[in-house]
Amino acid sequence: MTRVRLILLGPPGAGKGTQAARLAERLDVPAISTGDIFRQNVSDGTELGQLAQKYMDAGEYVPDEVTNHMVAARLAQPDAADGFLLDGYPRTAAQVDELDSILAAQGRELSHVVELTADTDEVVQRLLARAQDQGRADDTESVIRRRLEVYAEQTAPLVDVYSQRGLLVQVDGMGAVDEVTERLSTALA
Ligand code: AMP
Repeated sequence: MTRVRLILLGPPGAGKGTQAARLAERLDVPAISTGDIFRQNVSDGTELGQLAQKYMDAGEYVPDEVTNHMVAARLAQPDAADGFLLDGYPRTAAQVDELDSILAAQGRELSHVVELTADTDEVVQRLLARAQDQGRADDTESVIRRRLEVYAEQTAPLVDVYSQRGLLVQVDGMGAVDEVTERLSTALA
């Protein structure tokens, strides 16, 4: 069976993590979240975690070399051989290039890029609510603002890159979680 090789793009707070987990289950591919891998490393106290934490706490991106190396290692795991869903990667032009090289070296290509769109006021509200629930260190108001700025500067331009390649599908991320999952499934069918 041919499985999807999918990127989920979208601003912080658009619901990527929640939808990635649901979609990955439906599509029978691993959901690979760079943010989750970094957070796991932070809580395990690894060297990678120590390096990443100062960037994460400030709402900045972890340097490309570090992130790229981590993703290359993850995509080389056997469970990603038939397909994957990347949540939160690539986020910069250099990461797009790295992902292209990783896939080209394996004779694979992306099958879909989905942009989960969201209203800015709504995402700020969601992130503030999540901060109260989950206590994430990078969910304070000033860090949230910085994360949205960094997204606009460095990641939003990737939408055009993938659109020019004819891979982009835009899905409205607002509304109930189940509704959004249905929209995503329809968009990928
Ligand atoms: P996320 O859970 O996807 O919002 O990621 C949380 C934080 O991890 C981000 O604010 C960044 O500091 C870091 N991070 C996650 N993915 C990347 C990436 N692709 N490139 C650089 N930093 C990342």
